[in-house]
Amino acid sequence: PSGSEPATKIVINLERLQQLPADKVGPLARYAAAIQSQRGDYNGKVLSIRAEDLRSLAIIYDKSPGELTDQLIDWGVLPPEARPAT
Ligand code: C2E
Ligand code: C2E
Ligand code: C2E
Repeated sequence: PSGSEPATKIVINLERLQQLPADKVGPLARYAAAIQSQRGDYNGKVLSIRAEDLRSLAIIYDKSPGELTDQLIDWGVLPPEARPAT
C-alpha cells in the first residue's frame, strides 16, 4: 500500500534533483542548496538532511511528512528504502 510513514533517513539524490523541472522541485532544490551552503558541502552526489528538515519541507509543499516522502520517492529524489517498513 502507499505508505504514509515519513522517511527516517533522508539522503537526497542531488543528480536526480537537478534533472527535475523547477516548477516541481524548486523549493526543495533551494532548501538543499541552502544546506549545502551552510555546510560548505558542494561535492557530494547525495546530501543527508535532518528529519526536522523533512517536516519543514512538508509544510512548504502543503503535505504531511509521509505524503512528501512518497512524492520524493516517486520523483526518484529518495530511494524506495527511505520509507520505513510498516
Ligand atoms: P553513509 O551515511 O552511508 O554515507 C555514504 C556516503 O554517502 C558518504 O561516504 C558520502 O560519500 C555520501 N554522503 C552521505 N551524506 C552526504 C552528505 O550530506 N554530503 C555529502 N557530500 N556526501 C554524503 P563517506 O563520506 O565516505 O562516509 C562514509 C560513512 O561514514 C557514512 O556512510 C557514515 O556511516 C559515516 N559518516 C560520514 N560522515 C558522517 C557524519 O557526519 N555523521 C555520521 N553519523 N556518520 C558519518
Ligand atoms: P548548528 O545546527 O549549530 O550545528 C553546528 C554543528 O554541529 C554543525 O556544523 C555540525 O558539525 C554539528 N551537527 C549538528 N547537528 C548535527 C547532526 O545531526 N549530524 C551531524 N553529523 N552533525 C551535526 P555544520 O555542519 O558546519 O553546520 C553549520 C550550521 O549550518 C548548523 O549549525 C545549522 O545551523 C546549519 N545546517 C547545516 N546542515 C543543516 C541541516 O541539515 N539542516 C538544518 N536545518 N541546518 C543545517
Ligand atoms: P547523523 O550524523 O548520522 O545523525 C543521526 C541523528 O543523530 C540525527 O538525525 C540527530 O537526531 C542525531 N544527532 C547527530 N549529531 C547531533 C548533534 O550534534 N546534535 C543533536 N541534537 N543531534 C545530533 P537528523 O537530525 O535527522 O540528521 C540526519 C543526518 O543529516 C545526520 O546523520 C547527518 O548526516 C545530516 N546532518 C544533520 N544536520 C547536520 C549538520 O548540521 N551538519 C552536517 N554536516 N550534517 C548534518
